Amino acid sequence: MPDKVLVLMLDGLGDRPSKELGLMTPLQAARKVALDLIASEGMTGLLDPYAPGVPVGSDTGHLSILGYDPKAYYTGRGPLEALGAGVDLRPGDVAFRVNMATVDDDWNLVDRRAGRISTEEARELGRAVAELAEGFDSVLKFEYHPTVEHRGVLVIRGELASPSVTDVDPHREGVRVQMPRPTEGTKAARVTAEELSRFLLRAKEVLERHPVNSSRRQRGLSPANAILPRGGGVMPRLPSLAERYGIRSVVIAGGALYRGVCRAAGMDVRIVPTATGTLNTDLRAKFEAAVDSLRAYDLVFLHIKGTDTASHDRRPAVKRDFIERIDGELRRHLDAVLTDAVVCVTGDHTTSSLDGRHHGDPVPVAIAGEGVRRDDVVRFDEVSCGRGSMGRMRGLDLMNVLMDLIGRVEMYGE
Ligand code: ZN
Ligand code: ZN
Repeated sequence: MPDKVLVLMLDGLGDRPSKELGLMTPLQAARKVALDLIASEGMTGLLDPYAPGVPVGSDTGHLSILGYDPKAYYTGRGPLEALGAGVDLRPGDVAFRVNMATVDDDWNLVDRRAGRISTEEARELGRAVAELAEGFDSVLKFEYHPTVEHRGVLVIRGELASPSVTDVDPHREGVRVQMPRPTEGTKAARVTAEELSRFLLRAKEVLERHPVNSSRRQRGLSPANAILPRGGGVMPRLPSLAERYGIRSVVIAGGALYRGVCRAAGMDVRIVPTATGTLNTDLRAKFEAAVDSLRAYDLVFLHIKGTDTASHDRRPAVKRDFIERIDGELRRHLDAVLTDAVVCVTGDHTTSSLDGRHHGDPVPVAIAGEGVRRDDVVRFDEVSCGRGSMGRMRGLDLMNVLMDLIGRVEMYGE
């Protein structure tokens, strides 16, 4: 019996047929030897990341596929993003995702990404916001961490810290930014909304007069003069994969969110410096790191984001080509990996490259390895896998299925 599992998670893998690809999905249109081999040598099916017809985000999709019911554990993307950025969160801490943005004097949102500010400049501005947070006189403790480009994380700690406040980021340009309001009648929500508003106003003052922004204005660029929190949530306490299955597990992912979800599940994070979380990521280095990690870990979770990115850009042919590149890298290792590991390939949700949105269509799943049943399906795509022996399964059940294949699930009953 194999004792290792490699999960290849292709973000937003599922898709819909497009005219551009002759009424095929990008996965159907792609030439993919290795992915088809997993389907033909193993068992296949369709996976509902959460429930049929319910579009999920990457956060809830990943939680579910790792076996954590988002209904019980999901409190917002903030804490997961914060964990992924390497911020130390304790259960009870409240975290928000933050955009550094450009607003006018009346707080009308001019640019959600502050003219696509560089990571270097955003870090320098971020340091000023972090200093403000450190010395901020409040019953709550504030902490700010810039991450990549315009993005950052705001953490609020204290007995009166609450995630129950409205998003400050209006998600649309040309709209007036509203200061946070409590979304429930508790003292904590009221205090958090008040203190957060005060902090955001102070942050704008600090940013407005920062030399980086003076220089940006001189160069004709939008100043990053406001921070806009959203997706607030309280850090949940998840039973780890080690507690659930007695395994050692690691994630390889370019994006902070995916590292964060996996860290919340108690997984280690292996950093591949050239993994960017975009279409130009270093696939070769990621696959090599994944194969190497199988020596020390029982479960290796390799996340690739580009499939979702191409879908959001509404470019089915780019998605098809990217799938072919992934397949080429997988092919170099597949025989070796299949000698002592179970390989599973799937996605965390469908992202349509027609409208660029997440949808509730199920995603294909294929699992191969020694001892794994072999069904009649020979192609890995959204339609072929619908005829597979696993039928239609819930994302929540996938971890049990995989762990049982390596003998890590305890018997239920006598
Ligand atoms: Zn996703
Ligand atoms: Zn997406």
